[in-house]
Amino acid sequence: MSQVNKYNYITKECLFCNSTDDASHPVLYKKNFNDEDLNAHVFSARRTTEHFHYEMVKCSKTGLIFSRRILDDASLNELYKESLVTFGEQTEYIKNDYWLPIASLAKNGGNKKALDIGCSNGFFLEVLKDNGYGGVFGCEPSTEAKEIARADVREGIHTGFYGPGLYPENFFDLITCFQTLDHLSDPLGMLKNMYFNTKPGGNAYLIMHNTKALQAKIFGEKSPIIDVEHIYLFNKENLPELCKKAGFKVVSVFDLKNAYPFSYWIRMAPLPFKKLWVTIFKALGIYNKLFGIKAGNMGIILEK
Ligand SMILES: [Zn+2]
Repeated sequence: MSQVNKYNYITKECLFCNSTDDASHPVLYKKNFNDEDLNAHVFSARRTTEHFHYEMVKCSKTGLIFSRRILDDASLNELYKESLVTFGEQTEYIKNDYWLPIASLAKNGGNKKALDIGCSNGFFLEVLKDNGYGGVFGCEPSTEAKEIARADVREGIHTGFYGPGLYPENFFDLITCFQTLDHLSDPLGMLKNMYFNTKPGGNAYLIMHNTKALQAKIFGEKSPIIDVEHIYLFNKENLPELCKKAGFKVVSVFDLKNAYPFSYWIRMAPLPFKKLWVTIFKALGIYNKLFGIKAGNMGIILEK
């Protein structure tokens, strides 16, 4: 690739090894785009995937898969700010799937305070509010998100990135972070911030892709998780280790079950002949029927 770079790039290191020598971090997939291919649409959640990705390497000790040379923070910030909240229609299905694993931990909502990092249109703030949380807060860089959030959760949304100085120490009973950790260039830094903002005895709850899930194994480079948006990708063994580095105790790690209509699965899957599949599922009368599977997402519940 000889094109002039439009963006600045920085080099990322393995989160676990002190050295990031090439021998123990061999190239898994080669970079497959030029800077001209990038725009805010590519960085919008749950769009139909283009499968652009950086050069990705894999740590032979921990299985951590990561992008070695990535856009610097300033470039990423610009792209995320202009990104659109494109998954409004799906949030209704996600709400219940995401709430179930913490329902028992969080049932005494009362005057409790919660924060959702990368809160998008505030769909999970609605869940928390509806389950009795008195104070619900969210962080979301996309400027569109706050405008479309439900009125009673809108005020708590900070338009911008989550980081130090935003909230006090020992402040939240629960901090959630969905499909965000693997987008960050400093995931350990964010976990440490989360730990700082969580009350002693309080919980953190994260959901993200699992590189050892069947879907990721079957589709390999064509898997939707091999994507320019993802910088560090985890599995059920190395994710808890990173959370412990931030100070948390690990309560549980689990595969998340997601229920979506078939229309969604068809759109997201790297399938040939999509129109044909749509026709078949419509003919069967199940195109809009919900179908729940463990689709490659994992959850982790932590305690301070
Ligand atoms: Zn490593």
